[in-house]
Amino acid sequence: MPGRPLMEPAPGAPRGHGGGEALLGELETLVQDVVRTSSWWERHGVDCAILALSLLSVPAGFLSLRSENVLVLALGIIILGVCHYTLTVKGSHLATHGALTESKRWSRIWELFFVEVCSSFSAEYGKYGHVKMHHGYTNVLGLGDSSTWRLPCLNRYVYMFLAPLLIPVLTPLVAVERLRKVELRSAVRTLGLISLGLYAHYWLLLNVSGFRSPGSALLCMFTTRSLLAHPYLHVNIFQHIGLPMFSRDKKPQRIHMMSLGVLNLPRLPVLEWAFGHSIVSCHVEHHLFPRLSDNMCLKHCDSGQVN
Ligand SMILES: [Zn+2]
Repeated sequence: MPGRPLMEPAPGAPRGHGGGEALLGELETLVQDVVRTSSWWERHGVDCAILALSLLSVPAGFLSLRSENVLVLALGIIILGVCHYTLTVKGSHLATHGALTESKRWSRIWELFFVEVCSSFSAEYGKYGHVKMHHGYTNVLGLGDSSTWRLPCLNRYVYMFLAPLLIPVLTPLVAVERLRKVELRSAVRTLGLISLGLYAHYWLLLNVSGFRSPGSALLCMFTTRSLLAHPYLHVNIFQHIGLPMFSRDKKPQRIHMMSLGVLNLPRLPVLEWAFGHSIVSCHVEHHLFPRLSDNMCLKHCDSGQVN
């Protein structure tokens, strides 16, 4: 990714370690005040309702695929594709940050459901790669700079427009490869939950949607699971591309690292719905306060408090 190493704080910002810490502390107090005065509906309810609505729409998607009418068939693919991305991107992201509920037990249950059953990925590795590395070392070269998503061997057009189609196929394969590094109990659980998610999807296509051959059911799985793969990859690239990059040993204070290395993208309703505000238009707020839900990030974004 382009960008030059930058080790200096923003012009006009208080200098020295204490200045950055004090700024972040002040901001944290303001944000906590807003969180304290917000209702459960605002803190968690709105996002839980979007995820519940997505789950409840899944049967309509599978039933639409029974139709002979091309328009109804296309509607079924769109419903299943958008629901898939809402559950796997928005659901997994919020669950990985523990932003869906204040209960630790339910947080873990949602994490396993959204990341392993719905997204076919490892919950442990998802948390390590996203929360620990990407959030902990945003734009730090070789650590949190999304270097695992780079494929320099590919031509830019192939990378931007063909490679995204491989995301649904590569995701479970990468997860299985990572299982070598976790303890046996976790590996068996992850493998079981990923298989359950994939087989349930396949079974529903054969038994509810009426697909007659395994090939056509697999093609439909692939189509819905890659429906928003392009915007997903593009949003992931453009949230951080072209911004200052930092070296491991000379990274700036956290508040500067987050405000210089992260971009808010323009709002697009379908992407805000499926990926969540914290990934699209409130990404800076999300990097500063990763445990806030999408709706709370939007509240801070709209109030301009963080900016
Ligand atoms: Zn995040």
